[in-house]
Amino acid sequence: MEPVSDPLPAEPSSGKILFGKYSLGKLLGRGASGKVYQAKNISTNQTVAVKCIDKSKIMKSGHVTQIEREISIMGRLQHHRNIVNILEVLATKTKIYFVMEFAKGGELFNLIEKHGRLTENLSRRFFCHLISAVRYCHSLGIFHRDLKPENLLLDGNGVLKVSDFGLSAVAEQTRNNNDGLLHTMCGTPAYVAPEILGKKGYGGAKVDVWSCGVILFVLNTGYLPFNDTNIMAMYRKIYRAQFRIPRWISPDLQRLLRRLLDPNPKTRITIDEIVRDPWFVKGGYVDGADFEEDRREMKLKSKMKSESFMNAFDIISFSSGFDLSGLFGDSCGGFYEERRLVSSADPEEIVEEVEEIAMGRRRGWRGGRRGSSTWRWWARMVIYWLGWEYTG
Ligand code: ATP
Repeated sequence: MEPVSDPLPAEPSSGKILFGKYSLGKLLGRGASGKVYQAKNISTNQTVAVKCIDKSKIMKSGHVTQIEREISIMGRLQHHRNIVNILEVLATKTKIYFVMEFAKGGELFNLIEKHGRLTENLSRRFFCHLISAVRYCHSLGIFHRDLKPENLLLDGNGVLKVSDFGLSAVAEQTRNNNDGLLHTMCGTPAYVAPEILGKKGYGGAKVDVWSCGVILFVLNTGYLPFNDTNIMAMYRKIYRAQFRIPRWISPDLQRLLRRLLDPNPKTRITIDEIVRDPWFVKGGYVDGADFEEDRREMKLKSKMKSESFMNAFDIISFSSGFDLSGLFGDSCGGFYEERRLVSSADPEEIVEEVEEIAMGRRRGWRGGRRGSSTWRWWARMVIYWLGWEYTG
């Protein structure tokens, strides 16, 4: 990477030409280390993404090693279909530019936000892409350590691409440790493996498998397996692998999820076992050739979702993503741990629905302000009406 004089004013922006080669387009997003722009290679017309990192900012925030590591890891990774490949790294005295493949479809996270949980077929397809990328990285001794839907992008054909290797580790990092394990605490709370929390060292491959398990759960349910407004309570749930699988998940997938989210890294499923798992191999989705079919399925699902009224089953099935316990005061005791209202729909949508009913906008009922005792009474009635047991 040859530093050259800065071809741009302090802040890159749309319409600027970078190094006489890339024309910057719209801002795609911001990360902790910099902004990402859509751009076009002027001579080839290829659309790319350019991550602009301000050197002075990363010096101040102590992210230098992280960026250096990301550059060196991306250099080790050859072209892989399921990884956001770096095309080149450019630098000036003040900035570093990562020129990457452009992932037109954006974050997988947005797809779940927009459409809710995916069908098992579609989630299998994305999971196969994810495992293919992770398997490739592990074969090179590279562990991602921050796998989550926000770091999984989609290209224009719906092919999943793993991005953001900023927290990755390489196998050599374990060589200086007597136990051959990694010790750095890292990752995103909800996706972090129990052994990282245990602080006794961990294997990079096993923690990636755990995160893949959390991702697979999210894809199929639309919510996190371990969640709590209190972070320590969430960590306790992760440590004990305390999660519940909803009834709509097929028995084969339930089995796989339990093996992925095994709190004991020694008995947790390995990548080689995953690729032989009955649920994984079903449908032969490895090369994702049938995306058109999946897209039609998604469209249909989204139409059905907008047309259907949320039913009682949706609300009563298990989830850790939605908690109405605050409605019932402090007297509920064990209620908080054991009984939760759950749905594949957005929590906001459910709250709105319950409020609508409680405030009398549905069924001609009148009165009741949000937070008032009338509202609480109506909320309890609605829960009773849904057939859900309330003991508070
Ligand atoms: P960081 O750890 O640096 O904070 P981040 O995942 O929060 O990482 P970036 O990797 O900097 O953020 O990316 C910011 C956003 O830009 C992403 O969330 C994504 O929406 C978008 N983006 C990043 N890379 C690409 C790409 N290659 N193609 C399309 N969009 C991208």
